[in-house]
Parts: sequence; structure tokens; C-alpha cells
Amino acid sequence: MRIVVDLTRCQGYAQCVFLAPRVFRLHGEEALLYTPAVPDDQLERVRQAAVACPVQAILLGEEVSVGGR
Ligand code: SF4
Repeated sequence: MRIVVDLTRCQGYAQCVFLAPRVFRLHGEEALLYTPAVPDDQLERVRQAAVACPVQAILLGEEVSVGGR
């Protein structure tokens, strides 16, 4: 599944980093890096991270229009 993080919303709270450290990580104090193509074994963690994000910056595949289809 693909995800997009709206980095204009992201405030660097790092909830997602705690919940899914293999997908999200912080670079420096507040720059979020993430893996847009989420491995299947990380899906549940990413869903939890999306729910936990205080600003709903994490958009999951169903909500993301990835160029084309
Ligand atoms: S939980 Fe949300 S606001 Fe916090 S670092 Fe992750 S995407 Fe950004």
C-alpha cells in the first residue's frame, strides 16, 4: 500500500515514528522521512500511526490518488 504524508501539516510530533519506526523516521529535529511504499507486514502499524497522528497528516492508500490509477 502507498502512503503520503502531508508535510505541510506534519508538526514533527513523531507519534508515527514510535508506532512504525521501519516506515517513518525523523531526520534531525523535525524533518520527517518515510517510505511511501509500505511493506505488507507494516500495514497495521501504519494504520495505527495514521490514527495517532495529531494532525491527520498521514494519508493511506485508499485516500491517495497515485498518478494514473
Ligand atoms: S505523527 Fe503526524 S505530525 Fe507527527 S511526525 Fe508523524 S506525520 Fe508528522
